Amino acid sequence: MTALTEPDAIVEITPSAGIQTARHGWRAKCLQRLVRMGLPVPDSFAISADAVRAIAAGQTPDRTRLAQIIERADGLVSVRPSAINPAWGGPGTVLNVGINDACHARLTRTRGKAAADALYLGFVQSYAVHVARLDPDMFSDGDEGLEAALRAYRDETDEEFPQDPARQLAEVLRSMARAWDGPTARLLRQAKGAPPVAPLGLVVQDMALAIGPGVTGSGTIQFIDSVTGMPRITGRFRGQSQGRSKGEGAETLYLTRDPRGPSLEEAAPEVFADLVRFGVAARERLREEMQIEFVVSDSRLSIIDAVRTPRNSRASVRIAVALARDGIVPPEEAVMRVEPRALSDLLHHQVDPRAPRDIIARGINASPGAATGRIVFTAAAAQAAEARGEPAVLVRRETVPEDIRGMHASVAVVTERGGMTSHAAVIARGIGLPCIVGANGISIDARARTMQVGSRIFREGEEVTVDGTSGEVLAGAAEMLEPALDDSFSQLLEWADQHCRIKIRANADTPEDARTARMFNAQGIGLCRTEHMFFDDERLPAMREMIFAGQPEDRRLSLERLLPMQRSDFAALFEIMAGLPVTIRLFDPPLHEFLPHDREGMRELAESLDLPLSDVTRRVEALSEFNPMLGMRGVRLGITVPEIYDMQARAIFEATILASRNGAPVVPEIMIPLVSARREVELVKTRIDAVAAAVRNETRKDFAYRLGVMVETPRAALRAGDIAEHAAFLSFGTNDLTQMTYGLSRDDAGRFMGIYVSQGVYAEDPFHILDQDGVGELVAIGAERARSHKPGITISVCGEHGGNPESIAFCLRAGVNYVSCSPFRVPVARLAAAQESI
Ligand code: PEP
Ligand code: MG
Repeated sequence: MTALTEPDAIVEITPSAGIQTARHGWRAKCLQRLVRMGLPVPDSFAISADAVRAIAAGQTPDRTRLAQIIERADGLVSVRPSAINPAWGGPGTVLNVGINDACHARLTRTRGKAAADALYLGFVQSYAVHVARLDPDMFSDGDEGLEAALRAYRDETDEEFPQDPARQLAEVLRSMARAWDGPTARLLRQAKGAPPVAPLGLVVQDMALAIGPGVTGSGTIQFIDSVTGMPRITGRFRGQSQGRSKGEGAETLYLTRDPRGPSLEEAAPEVFADLVRFGVAARERLREEMQIEFVVSDSRLSIIDAVRTPRNSRASVRIAVALARDGIVPPEEAVMRVEPRALSDLLHHQVDPRAPRDIIARGINASPGAATGRIVFTAAAAQAAEARGEPAVLVRRETVPEDIRGMHASVAVVTERGGMTSHAAVIARGIGLPCIVGANGISIDARARTMQVGSRIFREGEEVTVDGTSGEVLAGAAEMLEPALDDSFSQLLEWADQHCRIKIRANADTPEDARTARMFNAQGIGLCRTEHMFFDDERLPAMREMIFAGQPEDRRLSLERLLPMQRSDFAALFEIMAGLPVTIRLFDPPLHEFLPHDREGMRELAESLDLPLSDVTRRVEALSEFNPMLGMRGVRLGITVPEIYDMQARAIFEATILASRNGAPVVPEIMIPLVSARREVELVKTRIDAVAAAVRNETRKDFAYRLGVMVETPRAALRAGDIAEHAAFLSFGTNDLTQMTYGLSRDDAGRFMGIYVSQGVYAEDPFHILDQDGVGELVAIGAERARSHKPGITISVCGEHGGNPESIAFCLRAGVNYVSCSPFRVPVARLAAAQESI
């Protein structure tokens, strides 16, 4: 038994034929749909994937059947690939199979010698290269004559060019079947998500000849602009051209009337009108915007193929929404059709994909969007540029908390080092700033104020464009597309929310972040990193004073200066969030992050604190740690220097009372970072309860609050059962949890992450996409243990993974109640969560 003798190994594509995408490929199925619509599709035959596999393995198709097909086709057919998924590509189409001397003579009579020569030559060239595997250089010259090509074929193979059409077709089928199994084709399609063994069908179709008398040629037409998604007819019509064969008088026409030159609309108005009609019909019947490939032969139109119109992100949103609004697809299908990541392209400026790019460096695309500005190498220079009204691109080896104001003053940030959760990446995503980290190829000379990339040197003040979506730094100013937060965007997300089974909150540290979060319909703040509030010019000195205080009493005095500032921070957040939950994380980073790092900074500090420089240096040294991320930070600081948390708790409660005056009572959520033992929670809880009692007493006002724990250490995940006892909620901080589970520094991993991913050590950067097998297992274990001790406990994820579609899908399956992510990622998260819920 051979697959090739089965009755449906080669089937004619008729309205009732049993064509299936899984057996015959998408092109065969699509052609059948066009046939069912009654479009003028030339006779077509589908060869099943089983049959193609048998051909590749050396079996020969039934020659008589092939001869019949070609005869019916008046001597000429084309062969096209038909993979299961169009994105997987396939071997190139071969046209005019069946042409031989006799057919050539006939075509010379009916279409003229030039047309006949062009068609024969095109086939000889592609047969020689793809089937006979002759040197492409000998057959690629478009000006080479037919005679010369036939002679070259004879000289190279010692035989005449094959004249038997059935043999030609059998050989073409075999070469295409084999090409699909070749290593290059396999690698290319695997890169697009195809499995190692992917089926390929083939389609044999009567040739509609595009070279000959009258209005004759081939073209493509689409009805939607691929970049904007707006209705617009584009494409082209190449008169007297078929593939790479060109007849006499070949010329390209516009499709629609155009002052720049002749158009198909003018040359053949009925053909053009039919094309437009077919486009509308195809959209309705195939429930998709289609790009149609067609041939006009002496004013007779044939539709030879159709594919989904290629589109970029913004077009994909507009198209999906328009299809649903026109009743062609249900809204939930529109929600499923848009890639969640595509939404982030709509939130920011984008480099116009049609514009030229002068790429000077590549790195990790840490925060999407694009911006053009002049290079600066320090935060101070960025602030100065902002004051002058000049857009600045901040280029640093890496950023530290002190650079935050400089980042705010810049239009984009590039760092030489770092990974997806390094400081620059997290801050940039938070404020919606285009950012590239780990741009290994650049080397910064801070003194000379230059940046070298390969042999090119860029000076401070030179203009560059940062494309944070692609991770590319471009020289000069690139053409941009505006953000597209239009009505289609809002509509799609409104439909998405109707299906979403979890809540999406935002990580927001400032009133501005909170407003952005609300603009994107976040359902609360899931993480307010309070330490970011201490870096402005007014607060940093008070903070430093507190750090230098020798006695608890002195410390309390400094903290009293910070208290009103924190209180107004929190009151503002409560007000903006208008009753939505707000989770405030108590102070987390190591204290020395707030201290100056160079001699000049220390001298300034000594001056402002009125201390000898040696005291300052000694204290800074005393606070420095070998491993600060595993040192005195988070709850450890809360227990050893409890006055900080006391002050923060008081500020939160006083702000709660303030914010509850005019509306519904606010119930703040307070979160303890970096916990690894239940006793830590007990100790902090006791003090916070005491502060709450004191504030209630002093103000004679009652309020409620919820205390929660961040699960960021593997031990906290494993001990989530007993930690849950004192917690109203647990929030997985998957940034630190990933760092600690892998023992991998989130600030340094960028240096080797590329190599690790390319060599398959990690399938993906685990700081970007949650590692479901390891870190994910800890999340699942933690959630399960917490729930078994306290069934009603709220579980969430607030690490950067909360904005990543794959990770959100995992969180949803693990049963979390909400995820929290940077405000600008909220739309992506809403769509991803909805897709997982539908
Ligand atoms: C985390 O560790 O996942 C987290 C949210 O906290 P941060 O990123 O501030 O360390
Ligand atoms: Mg953390």
